[in-house]
Amino acid sequence: ANAIVWFRNDLRLDDNPALHAALDAGLAPVCVYIHAPDEAGDWAPGAASNAWRHRALAALDASLRRRGSRLRLFHGPTLPTLRTLVETCEAEAVFWNRRYEPAIEQRDARIKRALREDGIRAESHNGALLFEPWEISTGQDGPYKVFTPFWRKALTQWRLQTPWTAPGALPEVDDGPAGVALQDLRLAAVPDWDSGFWARWTPGEAGAHEALEVFTDGALRGYRDGRDRPDQAGTSRLSPHLHFGEIAPWRVVTALDEVKRAGTAADIDAYVRELGWREFAHHLLHHFPETPNKDFNPRFAGFSWARRDPRRIEAWREGRTGVPIVDAGMREMWETGWMHNRVRMIVGSWLCKHMRLHWREGARWFWDTLVDADLANNTLGWQWIAGTGADAAPYFRIFNPVTQAEKFDPKGEYIARWVPELAALPVPLRFAPWRDPARLAAAAPGYPPEPVVSLEAGRDAALQAYRGIRGA
Ligand code: FAD
Repeated sequence: ANAIVWFRNDLRLDDNPALHAALDAGLAPVCVYIHAPDEAGDWAPGAASNAWRHRALAALDASLRRRGSRLRLFHGPTLPTLRTLVETCEAEAVFWNRRYEPAIEQRDARIKRALREDGIRAESHNGALLFEPWEISTGQDGPYKVFTPFWRKALTQWRLQTPWTAPGALPEVDDGPAGVALQDLRLAAVPDWDSGFWARWTPGEAGAHEALEVFTDGALRGYRDGRDRPDQAGTSRLSPHLHFGEIAPWRVVTALDEVKRAGTAADIDAYVRELGWREFAHHLLHHFPETPNKDFNPRFAGFSWARRDPRRIEAWREGRTGVPIVDAGMREMWETGWMHNRVRMIVGSWLCKHMRLHWREGARWFWDTLVDADLANNTLGWQWIAGTGADAAPYFRIFNPVTQAEKFDPKGEYIARWVPELAALPVPLRFAPWRDPARLAAAAPGYPPEPVVSLEAGRDAALQAYRGIRGA
């Protein structure tokens, strides 16, 4: 007998609970992926993310084929597609791993109900999180809104799933439709700026494990402090792999535990805490499903955001704000599909505070250009930096991009790498080139002579706007 294993953001065979459940039930898995972007509500996957998905699906298909199976691809709508598959493959069950984006969660609940009404065994599993978002709750049985107590509570419930390794071989199932070719999903067709991505990234399960190994052999030692340095390769770069479920977070934790050596315990704790932020982001998204579109803190309803100025927005998107650390970050993201976390905070603060544009403007751009675009993490990150979130940086704390650069890119190497026209400037000037207009004009005639918004005026205007709502 057969079962449909419906792959989504769990593009791996190793330790995949849905696949495991099918095999455990003695059913032959028919592995499918259904492309249905219009079922994702306001947040259909962005271009960079789709380009990644295209490659991750190809990798998954290749590893299924090595085992005697294959991945069948379909266009949505999802429920009728699944029903047809169930019927034509004579499947007894449909298994999948859960996703937590609000529109997807609702759709999946409807699908589960409908399949069960058809008399089919429909089962979802946790393939993505250390804790289900509803598993951690306060003494009053409510959701947490602040990270530290959330994580403290989570650690009291700590238990790791027992890893299960990928099956060596899978039965071939010939029944049912073959599906469409990967090219027909047109996932890779959208971005025309991604040619620089793929020398840096290997989407898919093997790439995820390789990235983990590179990290445990290298940057893990010293991660606690190194994670804040965009000029160094101080982080794991596992975010797209985790987003697409190419590796399970408990796999990462287990691997880190295995390499625990003298001196790395504090680094491992710091790393697991970052995974904790990912858990927290999913907890918030589940309990506050309106937050991808709406300020968590209702007080900001009365905030006077600046008029939407397309010229300024373009300058920010293209890395032409005249603030080198901001421009470096925006260009790194455009050229690689990824940006260092410290710099995400700096460019976010610049957008929401100095330029006083609503964080949604930034969240949307990140959504389209990050290979790790993730509704939970992106929403948390933007609401945090904007000061509108549940557990957020207070609005009045405004990052000074010059002091941030001095502190976290002390030699200006990150700036020189991504804004190469400034590499000819000596280091202190590289952080704030407008301070010597003549030299800037000589070294980089095309670079903005001064920031799109002055650091002081932008800061003052932001604080004044904030004062307007503080008492509200
Ligand atoms: P590491 O430092 O190696 O961290 C390991 C893992 O922990 C990451 O892969 C990620 O899954 C998780 N993690 C780390 N920091 C955070 C965090 N602050 N919040 C939630 N999870 C975290 N992350 C995304 O995955 N997708 C996004 O769309 C996203 N948007 C962001 C937007 C803004 C404005 C900000 C400030 C942060 C955003 N982040 C997002 C969080 C963070 O920047 C990235 O997860 C991190 O830079 C990924 O690099 P890494 O894998 O090398 O991180």
